Amino acid sequence: MANTLDGLHAVVTGGGSGIGAAIAEALAGEGASLTLMGRRLDRLTARAATLPGARALACDVTDEAAVESAFAEAASQGGPVAILVNNAGSAESAPFQRTTLAQFRRMIDVNLTGAFLCSRAALPAMLAGGFGRIVNIASTAGLRGYPYVAAYCAAKHGLVGLTRALAQELARQPVTVNAVCPGYADTDMVRNAVDRIVDKTGRSREAATAELAKVNPQGRLVQPREVAGLVAFLCRRDSAAMTGEAIAVAG
Ligand code: NDP
Repeated sequence: MANTLDGLHAVVTGGGSGIGAAIAEALAGEGASLTLMGRRLDRLTARAATLPGARALACDVTDEAAVESAFAEAASQGGPVAILVNNAGSAESAPFQRTTLAQFRRMIDVNLTGAFLCSRAALPAMLAGGFGRIVNIASTAGLRGYPYVAAYCAAKHGLVGLTRALAQELARQPVTVNAVCPGYADTDMVRNAVDRIVDKTGRSREAATAELAKVNPQGRLVQPREVAGLVAFLCRRDSAAMTGEAIAVAG
């Protein structure tokens, strides 16, 4: 049987590490050709080398001009982009009263504005080609509040809102837009959060990790490939009736 994503060109932002790398592997496994985007080209190139026919492009998703030129370059190298996974993101924590405006803006820029810019750059080719899948990697922090991450929560709630609004706007077009909302996952982002807890509280790494795992009713961290499996499913041609959803992968 033919692979389900054969012949489709997919862009994964933040595809050099963690959840984005697992998504790239899952999409390549289903036959998609890949362009990985992020700021650190060395890491992206190393990751792309592990996937058949994958390319790496340096792009800061918060920079409008850089996004426009990266999508033009991606199309010229790999053909029209049919799948976009807005995965690039970052999480900074601080008590609300100590959250600076610069920090708040950084969280909105990378987690929300980046997805807006990339989606706007990718959409014309999807509409012209008669097929498109946009998957936004939000978070359970896009569905509920958590203390000490107000800026990140606001950005991820915004990303879920963007998903729902764009899905409505495109409902009569052959392009779906969905959000995937992981709980704490086993990546550098959570390892960095564990480091901060260890620094601040003097607890052991095991105790700090267990504290985060406890938020998940299954009592564990989510594995990146578990997020990637859902993303691949949403990208399939026969997932066309699912749009505007925000699906938790959080135990
Ligand atoms: P990582 O830190 O491993 O991945 C984040 C990726 O985003 C990196 O590859 C980074 O690459 C890229 N990135 C960051 N800023 C930019 C930017 N300005 N432009 C382009 N790329 C950028 O963490 P995860 O894999 O955990 O995170 C992936 C996504 O999953 C994020 O959106 C995160 O919010 C979300 N998420 C993660 C959870 C977790 O517990 N790990 C839980 C819920 C959601 P580079 O530095 O090279 O630019």
